[in-house]
Amino acid sequence: MRTSRKFILTLFVLLLTFTAIKVNATEVLEVPTLPETMTIKELADELGENIVLTYDNYQYYRSVINDTSNFNILKLYSEGILKIDENGNINPNKELTIEEVNEIKMREIIFPERPTYVKRTSIPILMYHQVDTLPQNGPSGLYVSKENFCKQLDALKQNGYNTVTMEQVYQHWINDVPLAEKPIVLSFDDGYNSYYDFIWKELTNRGMTGTFYMVTSYIGDRTEQLRNIHREGIEIGSHTVSHKSAKYINNSTLLNEYKESKELLENITGENVRHFCYPFGNVTNYAVQTLKELGYNTAVKTSYGKAYETQGIYGLKRIRIDYYDSINGFLNKIK
Ligand SMILES: [Zn+2]
Repeated sequence: MRTSRKFILTLFVLLLTFTAIKVNATEVLEVPTLPETMTIKELADELGENIVLTYDNYQYYRSVINDTSNFNILKLYSEGILKIDENGNINPNKELTIEEVNEIKMREIIFPERPTYVKRTSIPILMYHQVDTLPQNGPSGLYVSKENFCKQLDALKQNGYNTVTMEQVYQHWINDVPLAEKPIVLSFDDGYNSYYDFIWKELTNRGMTGTFYMVTSYIGDRTEQLRNIHREGIEIGSHTVSHKSAKYINNSTLLNEYKESKELLENITGENVRHFCYPFGNVTNYAVQTLKELGYNTAVKTSYGKAYETQGIYGLKRIRIDYYDSINGFLNKIK
């Protein structure tokens, strides 16, 4: 009996020891492993969200970066934390070791040179709709092929144009904030599939930006995609909820269209949405008054021409790009 008891006790002790070892082993496995590497973009996302900007004109530095428009990267660059290489590239997808990450975090801050104010009187705001193949008998003023679109972006870079957002245009004209030379806005109306699948990548890979005027009822289940596109450096503006003309709706419908679209886009981007595009280019006095009251800063029309401050900040003209524009024709339009 005693022997048997002793045996059971030994067994019990053994079992306990075994369990303890097992628990220990699990604990060791559960210690979180640190990532071996992270990309420059991931680092910028980590640091950029919490950075205190000492210079709020950080978007200016898009004009010196060739391969990304990511807003967090622009912020870090403007604060002297990230640097460009000799070709003007940030290399956003470059993998950094932990040592390199620490080196960047500990870096001595040297601010990049701050720009001086030079007045830019006229600014071409290009108007695009679909970037896709023109359907048979389709309206050539509403389409540009993917191939031509890429050629146009390259021609802009080669000719020294600097893409800017509508917010930059506003800050330049209203608050005298410096703007890069040869500024140009690329605006896109409505929010077609090519916006999510093609346009934003072609822009941001070249360090360029554009303004997407979204009709919010067309967004559907692509809110997460739109959030990411915005982070990569694309400005998001409102083109109302359901694309109704200001001329043919009553005041309360107009107010809803302008207000709800703004709020929805602000929920998606996490930032103020301050730029507007009139459906069909139709403007009324009540429309302008409503835009002011809701806190929009600018609005664009479809009337042809370069934008000048004298047109009024809620009535800026644009240059329509046509499917059949040659590269020379395209460059002549924006001269
Ligand atoms: Zn439209």
